[in-house]
Amino acid sequence: MTKLVDSHAHLDAPAFDPDRDAVVERARQAGLTAILTLGVDGESSQRAVALARQYTAVYAAVGIHPHEAQHATPEVYRALLTLAREPAAHRIIAWGEIGLDYHYHHSPPDVQRREFRRQIRIARELDLPISVHSREAHEDVLGILQEENAAEAGVVMHCFSGDADIARRCLDLGCYLSFAGPVTFTNARQLPSIVPWVPAERLLIETDAPYLSPHPWRGRQHRNEPARVALVAARVAELRGMSLEALGETVTRNFATLFRMEPACQV
Ligand SMILES: [Zn+2]
Ligand SMILES: [Zn+2]
Repeated sequence: MTKLVDSHAHLDAPAFDPDRDAVVERARQAGLTAILTLGVDGESSQRAVALARQYTAVYAAVGIHPHEAQHATPEVYRALLTLAREPAAHRIIAWGEIGLDYHYHHSPPDVQRREFRRQIRIARELDLPISVHSREAHEDVLGILQEENAAEAGVVMHCFSGDADIARRCLDLGCYLSFAGPVTFTNARQLPSIVPWVPAERLLIETDAPYLSPHPWRGRQHRNEPARVALVAARVAELRGMSLEALGETVTRNFATLFRMEPACQV
């Protein structure tokens, strides 16, 4: 069976409360060997870590999403750092999700930028790669990533949504690009023309579940889940003219490299 990974999901979301075990089991049956579940605030980061302890194939990232930036108090950071430093922290393989979102403005842009910078510095100190959310904020995201030398820690641009120029600049900085459901949409704009030339060693795939269901499940009524990363994988493989199996091997290897999985728990 083709091996797959989901580099970005929110398994702690209430949408999964009724049947989380079944969701993780379907992912396993679909060939997924690793799912990264990310926190968006203090509480969801705690839940992400608990899930990573509960399920073998689940790993956690802790962090504060740009939407929540204005609630990033010193207490929240203290709790996240405690989590990241405790003995079971090997289940925490990244810091995120962090970044900037100028679409919704749930937190003021200057607060978002301050907390983004702060978290890049924390991740560098902890030697954890970061998972970056960038929505309608690519210029500022790129500027901050560069100024903070984020690439030294490792960076994945989750649910990449930029144009070819932004893609090139991300790659020049050393970032990985992770593609999600939108690459499968019938009206996907530039993404299908970008996917073919992303260097194989910088390519990742994800679901962002429970959001962003891929085609043909697109739409709010369709809860997305990690097993559906197979649809993203199939589309990316098709666009790159490679077999699904080869694509699966590529993204599985990249996941292990970026997130510095120890050989013992390598996926
Ligand atoms: Zn995001
Ligand atoms: Zn997300």
